[in-house]
Amino acid sequence: MGRPYNFSAGPATMPEAVLQQAAAEMLDWHGSGMSVMEMSHRGAAFGEILERAEHDLRTLLAIPPHFRVLFSQGGALAHNAIVPLNLVGRRPARVMDFVVTGAWSQKSAQEAGRYGQTHVAASTADCGFTTLPDPASWRLSADASYVHLCSNETIHGVEFHTLPDLAALGSDAPLVIDFSSHVLSRPVDWTRVGLAFGGAQKNVGPAGLTLVVVREDLLGHALPICPSVFDYRTLAQAHSMANTPPTYAIYIAGLVFQWALAQREGELSGVAALQARNIVKAQRLYDAIDRSSLYVNEVDPACRSRMNVPFFLRGDDGQPLRDPAHPRNVAFLRGAQERGLLQLKGHKSVGGMRASLYNAMPMAGVEALVDYLRDFERQA
Ligand code: PMP
Repeated sequence: MGRPYNFSAGPATMPEAVLQQAAAEMLDWHGSGMSVMEMSHRGAAFGEILERAEHDLRTLLAIPPHFRVLFSQGGALAHNAIVPLNLVGRRPARVMDFVVTGAWSQKSAQEAGRYGQTHVAASTADCGFTTLPDPASWRLSADASYVHLCSNETIHGVEFHTLPDLAALGSDAPLVIDFSSHVLSRPVDWTRVGLAFGGAQKNVGPAGLTLVVVREDLLGHALPICPSVFDYRTLAQAHSMANTPPTYAIYIAGLVFQWALAQREGELSGVAALQARNIVKAQRLYDAIDRSSLYVNEVDPACRSRMNVPFFLRGDDGQPLRDPAHPRNVAFLRGAQERGLLQLKGHKSVGGMRASLYNAMPMAGVEALVDYLRDFERQA
């Protein structure tokens, strides 16, 4: 048997080929006599790694030239503060609009409130974050510095499959997206985005690296209290080297980008190939859940995440068993572990189970999970 299948929401499963390449290059990167983690970030060897990583990411996501790519740090939660510190000062009113669709956008709104006035343009809290609000119903401010949404809510399992066109909704504010948990799983429509940010530890690489892709005209508005190394303009001018960047994480991300570029699915390649595969993988799992009488996913089918699939087992009364300590949940997770299906436990705030199907999860992993769902249901 090969390695087990790891369904963690993040840090998450990596392409095995990337891990093997990193292992092979661990002691001596390309004849340099050094591991990448031993190299000066200012030296030629690391310069080559950084340049290639940025080039490959731009190719994968078709990032237009008037956007800057920043390899930053702090994780997405730090950028919940760093984004407002950089953008809220664009307009004197210092208002930020938030579309609250789950735990992560809710956290973003809370944090931003420390730096300006936050306005909830729409929220699905009332329905337990199981659907997405129709953009036509959003109450957008006239003078917002930006509009924030989380394009894939990792905990609640809702995904914006298309990004809203804010201009068509009467707003001239730039859209900020937290794409931590779907970056590289599908293309990004940059005509609708001003800034995208995300932690690396799902589809990109190790924790510690945070990607920021920002339109050039949004640089240069940082508040004076913004830490200098987190002023996006400073970071852009320094080509992500305002201070020592997370060099090893960038190197691994670069290997993941090369792996992603090499993916093929019929005529498709790169992110388009990954997207096609992700659609099939998610459909397979949702179908298995929907057809069973033991499992349930409560998310509106139109906005179900392709990356994170939360689901519950039902009790004998048909109700979802949210409590992780329920014997049926415990038995399910134990049996999964025995079959090499790891980290299926749901987020503690939601309970139940969650299967994350990032790019590096092969179809065979989804099939193994679907087989297990069927076998467990038969004996339950
Ligand atoms: N946003 C989203 C969508 C996430 O999934 C996560 C992590 N699971 C975060 C923000 C927080 O990221 P970090 O822990 O790297 O700060």
